[in-house]
Order: sequence, then C-alpha cells, then structure tokens
Amino acid sequence: MTQTKSSASQVSRQIPVRQIENFIGGEFVTAAGGKRFDKRSPLDNRIISSISEAGQAEVDAAVKAARAALQGEWGRIPTEKRVAMLHAVADEITRRFDEFVEAEMADTGQPRHVMEQAFIPRGAANFKIFADVIKNVPTEAFQMATPDGEGALNYAIRVPKGIIGVVCPWNAPFLLMTWKVGPALACGNAVIVKPSEETPNTATLLGEVMNTVGIPKGVYNVVHGFGPDSAGAFLTEHPGVDAITFTGETRTGSAIMKAASNGLRDVSFEMGGKNAGIVFADCDFDKAVDGIFRSGFLNSGQVCLGTERVYVERPIFERFVVALKEKVEGVRFGRPEEHDTTYGPLISHEHREKVLSYYKKAVEEGATVVTGGGVPDLPAELAEGAWVQPTIWTGLPDDATVVREEIFGPCCHIRPFDAEEEVIALANDTEYGLSTTIWTSNLARAHRMAARIDVGIAWVNSWFLRDLRTAFGGTKQSGIGREGGVHSLEFYTELRNICVKL
Ligand code: NAD
Repeated sequence: MTQTKSSASQVSRQIPVRQIENFIGGEFVTAAGGKRFDKRSPLDNRIISSISEAGQAEVDAAVKAARAALQGEWGRIPTEKRVAMLHAVADEITRRFDEFVEAEMADTGQPRHVMEQAFIPRGAANFKIFADVIKNVPTEAFQMATPDGEGALNYAIRVPKGIIGVVCPWNAPFLLMTWKVGPALACGNAVIVKPSEETPNTATLLGEVMNTVGIPKGVYNVVHGFGPDSAGAFLTEHPGVDAITFTGETRTGSAIMKAASNGLRDVSFEMGGKNAGIVFADCDFDKAVDGIFRSGFLNSGQVCLGTERVYVERPIFERFVVALKEKVEGVRFGRPEEHDTTYGPLISHEHREKVLSYYKKAVEEGATVVTGGGVPDLPAELAEGAWVQPTIWTGLPDDATVVREEIFGPCCHIRPFDAEEEVIALANDTEYGLSTTIWTSNLARAHRMAARIDVGIAWVNSWFLRDLRTAFGGTKQSGIGREGGVHSLEFYTELRNICVKL
C-alpha cells in the first residue's frame, strides 16, 4: 500500500495539473479572491486539475455578458447565419476530436471507445441537429373573421427566452451539456453553463471552440463550482437568468425549483431513474442478455436510463442470471486509453462510498450476491482509484432498499415474474418514471406493455437507441418537460402571437 501511494505521488509530480478557469464574455477568467478546488482522477485519485471557483461576482459578470450578447449582435443575427455558426461549432469540435476525447476521459476515467463512438460525436451532433430543427420548423397562422368583414390574420413567431442557466451532471458531461446548449443557442438564447464540479474539462474546452468559430462574446459562458453556496446556487437564484435547464439528481432538482420560483422562471428537468428491464421467455435470448448488460453496466452503471431492476419471465430466469453473470464477469478493468479496457471506475471516491453502502445494504437485507459486491483487486497503479465490482443480486423483496432507490452504479437486482399484469405493476411501483426496456418477440405484447408503463421513454428490443428528433424526458420524479427535436423549442423559445387587423 505504501508503495502504491509513493508511486502515485511520483506520477503527480510528473504530470502537470491542468488549470481550469471560468469562461465569461469570451475570456478565461480567474475568480476574484482566487478560490480554487481540485479535481482528482477517478483512475488513481491523483490531482489532475485545479479549477477556479466562481463566486457571486463571476455569476453576475456572466449574466451581464450574456445580456449584452442578446442585446447586441447575437440578438439580431439572422437564423441562417446562426445555423451556419452552430454547424461550424460542430465541425470545430470534430477537428479537435482527440482533445475532447482526452479531456472527457481524464475527468470520467471511462474507456476511450465510449468517448470516441458515442459521447463526443453525439455531443458535436447536438449543435447540427438543433440548428437544422430551428431552420426548418414551421409556425402557425389563423385567419379570423371580424364584424367589419375585413378580417384579421394571426401568426406566431418564436423568440428566444433569453439567458438560460444550464446545470449539468458528471456522468456524460459533454453529451448532456451540449444536449441543452445546442438547442438553446439554435433558438437564439445565451447560456451560462455550470458543469459538474467532477467534470469541468470539456465545457471549458468548448469556450475555445466558440471563440475560434466567432460566436459573439457572452453567448456561451461557463462558471465553475459546486451547488449550495457556490456557482450552482448563485446561478439558479440569479434574477437575471430567465430559465433553468437541469440534469441531475431529483433532490437537487427540487432545490433548483425552489430557486426558480423566485421570479417565476421556467424549468426543464431531467432527473433520476430506477428503470425496469423486462425480459419475456420468447425474447431473442442473446440479444436480451446483451441489451440488459449494456443498460446495467455501460459507463460503470452511471447512466440515468440504466436498468437497476430486471424482471425475467420464470421459464428463462435461471438461464438468464447465469448468462448475465458471465457477461459481467468478462469486463476488463483498466486505463481508458488501453485498447482492451472495457470498464472504468466510478466518478469519485465519494460516489464509490455511496455505491458500496448500497452493496452492503443489499447483503444486510438478504440478497444473494450472484457476482461482485465489493472492490476489485487491481494493480498498484490503479489501487487508489474509485473502482467497484459490477454486481448482480437476486432474492430480495420488492421493498428492499436497493430495489427502490437509485444507486447510479454498476449493479442490478434480477427477479422472476409469471404474468404480464404482474410485471407491469412491478415496473410501475416506483416514484421514478424515466425509461424502460422490454424484450419480447411478441410485438402486440410489446406495444401493449409500452403504453402501460409510466415512463418518458420505452424501448422495445433495444436500449439507448436515440433519435434526437424524438421527445426525451421523464414522468413522476424523473423530470419536468421534454427536450429533443421540436420539443426543445417549447422550452428554449416563447411563442409570440401577432394579430394583424386587415
Ligand atoms: P447532482 O444533482 O448531484 O448534480 C448535478 C449538478 O447540479 C451539478 O453541476 C451540481 O454542482 C449542481 N447542483 C447541486 N446542488 C445544487 C443546488 N442546490 N443548486 C444548483 N445546482 C446544484 O447530480 P450528479 O450526481 O451530478 O448526477 C447524477 C444524477 O443525475 C443521477 O440522479 C442521474 O439519474 C441523473 N441524471 C439524469 C439524466 C436524465 O436525463 N434524466 C441524465 C444524466 C443523469
């Protein structure tokens, strides 16, 4: 152990700690007072970045810069030009692809292939897709009769909402941030982003891209810090922020909603989940195992859409548990840049403590641990990282803590079921309503089930298959509102009706 510590500190002496600043009005800004915080690598707990923590003064400055941008060039720019600029942002991200991949890998520790194939390219695509939506969206018009016989014409225009506060989580930082910044800018707003304190890198790098492309100063701003008594609270409480879009935990959403009620500011929330995966005996078995494995363990289980409750029809229950166990035990821990790594650490030691406390609780509540349940034995250079074993449980009652609460880790409980009605009731027995994944070859049943499970997104024989034109969001405590395609316009614009008497 001593040896591990000394080798880790040797590494920290060799690799420079990245200095990360706020991005306000097109400039990289160190917070007045010089308050900073450290970011540690999830791989080995080494300090990798020192981040300037924004205070009230920096948030005020960001609001001022954003307002000036809206009142200046950005507020008058024709849609076609804005669309072209956002395409240029996507192209510039693609040109600097490797830097974005490296930055995100450093912050999250997740394997390179996940960054390269999904999180970074989809993040770039968010700028193009929403630019194209706004370019092509029609508006409404109504002709009306008037007593003088001349009539009137009503038509609607969409105007930007103003300054959007964008508060982001750490699990897919670039993808989830651009999912909001893309449509917000496409609609002509200015944004102030508060990335997670765990993942400050790519939002900051995007500031460089904005400057290169010539996005006017103040349109895109980034303030770093934490939630309460820090940048997150200062931003969401700021009366100059016109609306807040947030992705993160349900309890944080509740705090932000209180802040937003001051001044009656609009909110769009994408929050937690405790999603059910449902596997019928008539499914394509291998595909179902593969789909449930991905949904439970991709990104080390840190996906809001992930499946932590799996219900398998009794005739294939035992076989399914064995097959999933085999897949889970096949993951290869390692550094993200190594080719054969398939599985990364959790985001932080703090999150690991939380996940491990659930692992302990599961055993206390009587679970059979099919696989995992602890910390893997890794070589000395990784031993200080935030690693946990991917874990499967069976045998818990439906009211067990790990069956009810969102863990946000690489784990699931598998339970047999016998009837369709039974499994619908089980799937719906949660305060959350984000997504579900249903595996069956009986499509009539699939349609029936999908309509009755109370979620925002139901996948059939698939998972995380996202068409960005479709509505994304959750029911119950998983969210408020929908984003995606034209649905994003509902939040990022105001529809103004213009009535012209003829
Ligand atoms: P979190 O709620 O702890 O933090 C999210 C962001 O909110 C961070 O930037 C944080 O600094 C900020 N924050 C915290 N308290 C705040 C406050 N009082 N005021 C303003 N800002 C505050 O969430 P997390 O741990 O970063 O992310 C994991 C959670 O996100 C999970 O619950 C997961 O399900 C959820 N999530 C949901 C979706 C979705 O689309 N529904 C997607 C990804 C993650």
